[in-house]
Amino acid sequence: MKRNVDLNEISDGRLYSANDMVKVECGDCAGCSACCQNMGTSVVLDPMDIWKMQRGTGRMLEKLLKKELELNVVDGIILPNLRMNGTREVCSFLNEEGRCSIHPYRPGICRLFPLGRYYEKNGFHYFLQIDECRKKSRGKMKVKKWLWIENLKTYETYKTVIQKYDSNMYVVPAYE
Ligand code: SF4
Ligand code: SF4
Repeated sequence: MKRNVDLNEISDGRLYSANDMVKVECGDCAGCSACCQNMGTSVVLDPMDIWKMQRGTGRMLEKLLKKELELNVVDGIILPNLRMNGTREVCSFLNEEGRCSIHPYRPGICRLFPLGRYYEKNGFHYFLQIDECRKKSRGKMKVKKWLWIENLKTYETYKTVIQKYDSNMYVVPAYE
């Protein structure tokens, strides 16, 4: 999802790569599930998220859309997002112990948080959102360890291609 924000206002002003250390380590989120609630429609899923979720849960998208996911328009495109339930707006995958029930195959945005991606011409860097995680005394950890994504280089290329594809949806053909 594109955001028009001033990076200096929401981050520590640094851009990170996969091998850099960043202050994200939050003690395994023990006792906290704040970022699994009140997210509205903002946890948008990409094709890889859906593929992994289908494999992990053994349920196809049509079934997931009945309970855990929903469809919304994002930047002019209809995309699936995590559904939040009840007055507390809790993610459908958060279990009674306040833990993620699909942790090994949770969506890319959940793995990334509280990091974000800053896209440039031929790729992106990561940035740290300073006011998002509730745990204020966080330790340092390598970006790639925090993400824990298999074949990260390939995944980063995939995210760049997807982002370019989304941007191109807005290019008005020259012949119109
Ligand atoms: S999928 Fe898991 S990590 Fe992501 S918001 Fe839901 S419960 Fe939290
Ligand atoms: S707000 Fe921070 S500590 Fe709390 S669940 Fe999210 S990442 Fe974990």
